[in-house]
Amino acid sequence: MIGHKNNINEEIRNKLLNWYEKNKYDYPWRTTEDQYKIIITEILLQKTIASNVNNLYHIFFSKYKNFSDINKSNILDLQKDIKSLGLSNKRAKILKDLSLVVMNNNGKIPEDPAILREVNGIANYVSNAYLCFGLNEKTIFYDVNITRFISRVFNVPKSKKRFELIENKLDELILAMDCKRLYWSILDFCNKICIKNNPKCDICPVSSYCYYYQNDL
Ligand code: SF4
Repeated sequence: MIGHKNNINEEIRNKLLNWYEKNKYDYPWRTTEDQYKIIITEILLQKTIASNVNNLYHIFFSKYKNFSDINKSNILDLQKDIKSLGLSNKRAKILKDLSLVVMNNNGKIPEDPAILREVNGIANYVSNAYLCFGLNEKTIFYDVNITRFISRVFNVPKSKKRFELIENKLDELILAMDCKRLYWSILDFCNKICIKNNPKCDICPVSSYCYYYQNDL
């Protein structure tokens, strides 16, 4: 039974990664190794659409080249510079607070997610996404899109245990050696195929493993 489950996860992984290679978004934050840009981008991506962050990405990082630039900036200027993303007051405060934490840590981003989460506004998603995308560590994080995809494929019902089950399923699906590409593939897949309304099951490469599709839900 465990072997069967592993095979299914492996097949879903392969299908997702194949799909990703042909259909991925070429966002600049996916090709940088700069941990400063990676964590700042995760904060900018919260509660906004990726294309808005994409439009701002080079403008923002040409002005704010490092945490010191954010730390020294006037918060009103910072708010103005990220206004196009929405929630600019809240987001600017998170950036300023994080820059202070980093400056007080000899310019290094803390690698302990619990320390990152002490910054008001940085929760599980951003701290764990940073560990994955910035430090190549397998972590478990999910937003509403990842939750929808996992729930549909693996039949995770809405219940008290839902998020525990989502975490277990993600833990089985995500491989440490390929965690970045797997998360990116799921994120893009949720955006293009397993969308909220009318998912494109007819062209979905994982439909034969998907509970939602197989049970005509
Ligand atoms: Fe989503 Fe449909 Fe694919 Fe299932 S078959 S993963 S519901 S798009």
